[in-house]
Amino acid sequence: MSELELHTLLVQGVFLVAALTVPALLFISAPYGRHARGGWGPQMDTRLAWMVMESPSVLWFLAVFFAGAHAWSLVPLLLLVLWQSHYVQRAFIFPLKIRPGGHTPVSVVAMGFMFNLVNAYVNARWVSEFGRYELSWLLDPRLWLGVGLFVLGYRINRRADAALAALRKPGETGYKIPRGGLYELISCPNYFGELLEWTGWAIATWSVAGLSFAVFTAANLVPRALSHHKWYKQKFPDYPAGRKAVIPFLL
Ligand code: NDP
Repeated sequence: MSELELHTLLVQGVFLVAALTVPALLFISAPYGRHARGGWGPQMDTRLAWMVMESPSVLWFLAVFFAGAHAWSLVPLLLLVLWQSHYVQRAFIFPLKIRPGGHTPVSVVAMGFMFNLVNAYVNARWVSEFGRYELSWLLDPRLWLGVGLFVLGYRINRRADAALAALRKPGETGYKIPRGGLYELISCPNYFGELLEWTGWAIATWSVAGLSFAVFTAANLVPRALSHHKWYKQKFPDYPAGRKAVIPFLL
């Protein structure tokens, strides 16, 4: 089997995992954060869990990217900056901003780690080796539409995560109704921003590899947003009735 065939197989694997993730998460919410519960084996510190789980998306992505024949070309480098701007924050800054003392099952971390290994390989290898991004791609509206969507999603995601982090004073562990900005329209603007980011990535790279990650992100985060939304409505009798779960005015 050639490496390109292996790459194609892995991309198909990501689509398959996405297809299996939707029904699984509609019935069983992923057991971390507010949906944490026993029965998922040993636990580890949540901050460390995020760092371990997301680190392949920074470090392994870099290693695979710079092994590619086109790593030093302008468009691949621009795409590298996009990817790393998200993942350096997610792996090494975001964990330091969430409340200390939380616990996450090692099994969840192991699954996330494995997924990120595959996903980082698939995207990095495409961008710097198998994909063809000539300088002319800089004049293609798909690149800039994708970059624009990515940047918009990034800002929404960061602001929404920061708003959640600000809800708790030091030492607090409970939950409050988030208010302001997109929280007036949806329960999970952080997930909405994430969906925009990876849709933007799929468009900017115009690749099946990028599309597979955007589809997986939706498969993972839309059911979780529905679980969060249902949880908010059960927990807070005064939860704003007009708020949707994850897509303003729609879902
Ligand atoms: P959540 O919104 O569930 O939680 C984010 C943080 O905010 C947690 O520390 C949580 O605490 C805290 N928090 C949430 N709601 C409240 C509230 N109402 N009051 C007080 N504190 C609150 O997000 P996730 O942990 O699922 O995800 C974190 C980030 O990772 C998001 O930006 C998400 O988009 C991204 N992500 C991306 C995935 C992908 O497939 N690309 C997959 C999963 C996450 P606690 O932990 O105690 O609940």
